[in-house]
Amino acid sequence: MIVILFLQVSDLYSQNLDYARSIVSTLASEDYMGRGYVKKADLKAANFIKAEFRELGIQPMYTDYFQFFNLDVNTFPGKMEVSLDGKKLRPGIDYLIDPSSPSLKGSFKLIRIGRQELNEPEHLNEILKASTGKAILIDMNDSLSFSPSDNEKINKRIEAIKYDPELKNALTLILSDKKLTWGIAGGQAKKAVFSLHSGEIKSDGISTVGVNITARLKRNHQTQNIIGIIPGKTVPDSFLVVTAHYDHLGIMGKETCFTGANDNASGIAMLLNLAKYFAENPPKYSLVFMALSAEELGLLGAVSISKDPGFETGKIRFLVNFDMAGTGEEGIKVVNATVFKEEFEKLQQLNTANKLLSSVQPRGEACISDHCIFYMKKVPCFYIYTLGGIAAYHDIFDRAETLPLSQFDNYLKLMVSFFEAF
Ligand SMILES: [Zn+2]
Repeated sequence: MIVILFLQVSDLYSQNLDYARSIVSTLASEDYMGRGYVKKADLKAANFIKAEFRELGIQPMYTDYFQFFNLDVNTFPGKMEVSLDGKKLRPGIDYLIDPSSPSLKGSFKLIRIGRQELNEPEHLNEILKASTGKAILIDMNDSLSFSPSDNEKINKRIEAIKYDPELKNALTLILSDKKLTWGIAGGQAKKAVFSLHSGEIKSDGISTVGVNITARLKRNHQTQNIIGIIPGKTVPDSFLVVTAHYDHLGIMGKETCFTGANDNASGIAMLLNLAKYFAENPPKYSLVFMALSAEELGLLGAVSISKDPGFETGKIRFLVNFDMAGTGEEGIKVVNATVFKEEFEKLQQLNTANKLLSSVQPRGEACISDHCIFYMKKVPCFYIYTLGGIAAYHDIFDRAETLPLSQFDNYLKLMVSFFEAF
């Protein structure tokens, strides 16, 4: 009997994990094109989440699940080729394009400058004057050491070179040993910029760079949040809110997809698992589920829904935002823990009592994900992210097949008990 009971219980939990895995491997598959704005990938992901809401019996907040808004976004839907002296570089591994870069095609003579030159303004100006129509390669790899104030000046000059409209160079490349971390931009700059990773690239002796890239600035692209509700049993006009963004960075040319498994297919997996649980176990308060778009473009989905969530934001008892929910080997970090102390203590108590995660760590305010928009409207909230595990972030290695989800079940149990404690 005990054995059977154990099997049933463990079976139930493994079902949650299976569901989470299937969500992550779907949303973070290349079919979903990094949930960006090329070929309506954002809509494809939104339709998937909407179908899950429907399947789970979550009601739409409005007449439909979608809440639409428009945005501007720069995209890279086509060619993405960069070569040094004819040798092709690998997108995502050897280089990233600056998200605001425009299209560019051609072969350009290369002017190489190092930090030494960047530290000598007069010399630098001479070099830059001769850069019309050429590529500037800034090589940050050296064994030189500079004072903090010189370093600051050097960095300022690099920023000036990257975006200076007066400077008539064709493009800028920056070579360093820093991890490549991509982003997404809502506009287009005048010139293309690339970050090169120095792993297998040496700049000495290179004389030309070949570039063929297609950028498309989309204006007024319509995207959507997906909003669902489980009405509360006893206090339906008071709300607990779960948010997670479903968008990611999209593609960098046809061949390179930023699949965003941890960021943030994992958060959507948490949101859907909570929706599944509370659809089967109706809560006291109304529970609202917000799968938000365009977080990576500056929390735009949260801005849009916070203006008209369908109820007064003053009625939100508490909100939890999940972004990066796929690891947890070293526990979780709770943004706003030092602001909402009572709720944080509750979360720690529940964790200790049920022996779930290895640590529940406090952090102060941090405007780094969607909760921030609600927090600015005085909504009590946490943003929680998992710690440990793989370090892939905003790069091509944030993939479903390497996302551990090893603590997902315990994390889910903790959050269920947290919401039930209200
Ligand atoms: Zn994120």
